[in-house]
Amino acid sequence: MMSTNRLQNETTWPFYVFLVGSMFCLLSSSMCHLFSCHSHKLNILLLRMDYVGITVMIITSFFPPIYYIFQCSPYWQIVYLSGITIMGIFTITTLLSPVFSTGKYRSFRAVLFMSMGLFGLIPAVHAVILNWDEPERNVTLAYELAMALSYLIGTMFYVTRIPERWRPGFFDLAGHSHQIFHVFVILGALSHYGAAQVFLEYRSRLGCDTQ
Ligand SMILES: [Zn+2]
Repeated sequence: MMSTNRLQNETTWPFYVFLVGSMFCLLSSSMCHLFSCHSHKLNILLLRMDYVGITVMIITSFFPPIYYIFQCSPYWQIVYLSGITIMGIFTITTLLSPVFSTGKYRSFRAVLFMSMGLFGLIPAVHAVILNWDEPERNVTLAYELAMALSYLIGTMFYVTRIPERWRPGFFDLAGHSHQIFHVFVILGALSHYGAAQVFLEYRSRLGCDTQ
């Protein structure tokens, strides 16, 4: 775990933004699956909240890496963080609108999630070029690659509806695509948590000269 006295000099709010976002995601998923059997009306609302929670986690997960990597260039902090926030708000609005919540727009919703993930590639490539000589490069890259893979594989299960498409009815209680999707979302959040700790530790050691 993080040692608190080392972090005293470093800004910790971006880290907590991510923590609150991922806790909101896990809470809304739990609420959704606990109470979705209540009624059809509540079921539809809760299922939307399930995806809104994941979107909130994706947006907030951008805060620690972008903030700490580009701490010495506030211009890029603003560009990337406002970019992902605008994309996220657009996705949430889409998820909450009844028209786009139907099965017909399933792939469209998947594309929205994918594009938020792909947007992350731009600051990622930028960061790798900026910090090519840093010893932490490979560790954070490995963590973030694990995160990206988790989200991609999770979305793939969501879109293809594997394995229940092969044996309809057999996976109704356990093992269907939506459950696998949630497992990969948690794996993605965990590996991102690992990366965020490295960024935070790095900044509390090095700081920023221009400040
Ligand atoms: Zn769910």
